[in-house]
Amino acid sequence: MVLAPFDYARPETIDAAADALADGRGQVLAGGQSLVAAMNLGRQSPVRLVDINQIPELTEVTYAADRIIIGATVRLAELRESPRLLREAPLLYAALRHVAHVQIRTRATLGGNLSQADPCSELPAVMVALGATATLRSQQGERDVAMADYIVGPYRTSGDQTELLTRVTVPLPSGAAAGFYEIARKAKDWPVIGAGAQVRVNADGFIDDAWVGACGLAGRPRKLIEVEQALRGKPADADALRSAASVATGAEEYPGARAGARYRERVLPVVVERALVTAVETTREQEHVA
Ligand SMILES: Cc1cc2nc3c(=O)[nH]c(=O)nc-3n(C[C@H](O)[C@H](O)[C@H](O)COP(=O)(O)OP(=O)(O)OC[C@H]3O[C@@H](n4cnc5c(N)ncnc54)[C@H](O)[C@@H]3O)c2cc1C
Repeated sequence: MVLAPFDYARPETIDAAADALADGRGQVLAGGQSLVAAMNLGRQSPVRLVDINQIPELTEVTYAADRIIIGATVRLAELRESPRLLREAPLLYAALRHVAHVQIRTRATLGGNLSQADPCSELPAVMVALGATATLRSQQGERDVAMADYIVGPYRTSGDQTELLTRVTVPLPSGAAAGFYEIARKAKDWPVIGAGAQVRVNADGFIDDAWVGACGLAGRPRKLIEVEQALRGKPADADALRSAASVATGAEEYPGARAGARYRERVLPVVVERALVTAVETTREQEHVA
């Protein structure tokens, strides 16, 4: 297929990117792993591509005591190869291990992955579980949006065409280990359904706190609050994990789902339980090493 003609802008600052998007006729180009494929298939025909790959500020990763701030064009491969991320953001890291192939991750960006808003993507699920925030910028200024309000439906965000996602702030719960489990038709493919869990187990072996999210369940990622509540104060043993996972619910039909809602609802407790078991086993391994 021959691509429809389009204009191309390559701003070198966030302000210049906001200017290039201001008339609402531009579309952000990040890693291009989804957008260029959609253009090749004739599914998207942007009037103007605004290539944000030359903006140094968007490539920064900053760690603070209780959070990490990740620029929109940080590549998934860079995050995946970071020992510090594994140590300090274990749930994010656990999810990243399942995202696509190395070739895709080398180009794909965090901002692109989240803005693509694929219901099956792993990272949005752990972002909403952890309570991450998206920072959006336009000529009108900057605003922060909870990730749960940024990703609003299959392939839809609440950002408008004049806005650029500039960075993501992810809270980092201390002293917690994580696991991610998914069912996919092929290795490294998008999952049919997946769940990520981070748990903090106290010295007496009880769960102090938990963060659990699912992808593929509905048209947008879901924080499984019912599971988190069922875990708090319980012993970190197999029975309690299974019992908490059994309350997970919420499968819905949505366009492009890789399996029916009935199947996804049925396997959801198993997927959540396996993520929880990995998180608790990892906690024990860490105690053993310490
Ligand atoms: C073979 C294959 C397998 C894959 N497997 C998985 C998988 O298992 N799990 C998974 O999660 N993903 C998977 N992906 C998707 C891949 O991770 C996404 O294509 C990628 O994350 C999109 O990021 P990008 O930087 O390439 O974005 P682009 O393709 O450049 O952009 C995607 C969309 O987001 C918008 N956008 C990008 N950046 C911004 C921004 N900063 N602000 C506002 N809007 C923005 C663009 O305008 C476009 O609409 C796979 C892709 C392929 C091709």
